[in-house]
Amino acid sequence: MSERPTPETDCESGFFDMETAVSAAFARRLERERDEAREALENHTASTIHSCHDQCQRPMCVLRRERDKAIKLFESGKRACASLNEALDKTLHELREVREQNAKLTDIAERAIIAVALWAGSRTNSASELRAELEHLKETK
Ligand SMILES: [Zn+2]
Repeated sequence: MSERPTPETDCESGFFDMETAVSAAFARRLERERDEAREALENHTASTIHSCHDQCQRPMCVLRRERDKAIKLFESGKRACASLNEALDKTLHELREVREQNAKLTDIAERAIIAVALWAGSRTNSASELRAELEHLKETK
């Protein structure tokens, strides 16, 4: 039991002040409430301190494990997402390069075909008509 003074012990020790004085019954009620509060606190402390383990079924412990598991899943999902984004960026960059090279090769091929057509004595040397002949050749292939 604590040695801290209470209103009751204060009264017993001779201290008496009309402004702060309380009845003995009220003092006993306060002391009873204090003791009940101390007991509740001790019970709560005793129930919180326990030897926890991975299979502990206390609701707070189960919830804590589920929370930790969810945090781990979230973190691993975040890392996977970042790595996928990086791979996607790299693929898009490569696709852009392939498209640029394809456009250059297509341009070179068209110029070559026009040059061959001119060399072979095509009826026209108009670039637009040669392109039209080229399109016709592509379609009839
Ligand atoms: Zn536990």
